[in-house]
Amino acid sequence: MILKYRIRCVGGGEIIEDISSLSCPQGHNSLLRTEYCSRRLHLHPFRGMYRYLDWLPVTRPLLPSGGPVTFTSPDLSRELGLPCLTVSFSGYCPEIGAGLTTGSFKELEASPTMQRLAELGGAIPVIASAGNTGRAFAELSARSGKPVVIVVPEKALFRLWTTVPPEDIFLVAVKGDYSDAIAVSNTLAAVPGCVPEGGARNIARRDGMGTVMLDAAVTTGRLPDHYFQAVGSGTGGIAAWEAAMRLVGDGRYGNRLPRLHLAQNKPFTPMVSAWEERRRQIIPDNDMPDAAEAVSQVMSDVLTNRNPPYGIRGGLFDALTATDGRMYAITNAAGEDAMKLARETLGIDLDPAAAIATATLVQAVEKDIIAPDDHILLNLTGGGYERIREDFTLHPIPVSVTVAVDETREGIVRMLKEWIAHHE
Ligand SMILES: *Cc1c(COP(=O)(O)O)cnc(C)c1O
Repeated sequence: MILKYRIRCVGGGEIIEDISSLSCPQGHNSLLRTEYCSRRLHLHPFRGMYRYLDWLPVTRPLLPSGGPVTFTSPDLSRELGLPCLTVSFSGYCPEIGAGLTTGSFKELEASPTMQRLAELGGAIPVIASAGNTGRAFAELSARSGKPVVIVVPEKALFRLWTTVPPEDIFLVAVKGDYSDAIAVSNTLAAVPGCVPEGGARNIARRDGMGTVMLDAAVTTGRLPDHYFQAVGSGTGGIAAWEAAMRLVGDGRYGNRLPRLHLAQNKPFTPMVSAWEERRRQIIPDNDMPDAAEAVSQVMSDVLTNRNPPYGIRGGLFDALTATDGRMYAITNAAGEDAMKLARETLGIDLDPAAAIATATLVQAVEKDIIAPDDHILLNLTGGGYERIREDFTLHPIPVSVTVAVDETREGIVRMLKEWIAHHE
């Protein structure tokens, strides 16, 4: 088999032999990036995201998988005074063909990640999540019959459901917070047969999210001038930048990278604070004082990552630098207004993060940061939960085991090993 891509360390520039690597074997503090053999994006005859199979690190699609939907909204354009506004929606709204049944663009990350692991030998991904990511992986597992291990804080269990009965999910509930769930997931990812899913370091996740930019460029025939998104880790912003670079390389979509306009939700805004000083390092005392208190006050808790891939080479700092990007701090009040605006103009109940992105665009217009005739891509990263509840039966996922933070992990490791043996 001739591989359709290779991966390169952004920091050191060297090609990485082991394509399953999540970090640089030479120790550069850097993301790895995919380089596809096909420089021109050729469209494949699939529905959803695998139309862009050329620039996904898998050989075959995982079907059925939905994709982002690109559209224009005369009502929203009129409200904002932006005739060249394009909207990308990753959620559920059958009227416009949006079919992500877990309601967020995390499905765009989960699908190629699961497919890639299956193609590379069938390792089982271990995911720590407080919500949308866990649900996306659970749904893809339920749909495709591929096993996953999901670790969540017990309090986030209500957010985990699938629209197809789940069969192959080892679900661990941790009596603690998200950081505790991450600690448990690290232990489980070391069990033979399992791998850490990798987050932003996982090229399949970033290239999957990159299909938002690809779909928008293919639909409108050009790269946008500006890209708007709300970020927690910033992975979506990095992915948009990487996809835009590939589109520039293609040659048919323009040669200017879109400017990134990325937002966090006040009062938790570490990347806004660091970027304002053009600092590569996040300094916790400076940029996120009273983090726990700040996190508890935001309307969108998916935007509260405390350890984002910001300073790492090829990460968000570099993406903002390369695109002359801007960061915004958005209040809950502005987010709530934008939520209403989207309901009235698009008829969609947005995920709170997507409402924050919409509020960012409103602010950029008010402050004349963008010109009325600029081409804008607004990435609405989630929504449609009301229709999901109407159209589907939501299946809760049975908990395999509950663990306390101070408990030894031997018991769950043994249970996981038995579960894996049973699966083989
Ligand atoms: C995770 C998430 C985000 C933030 O994404 P990143 O690019 O990883 O920071 C935004 N919106 C929704 C709906 C999400 O689930």
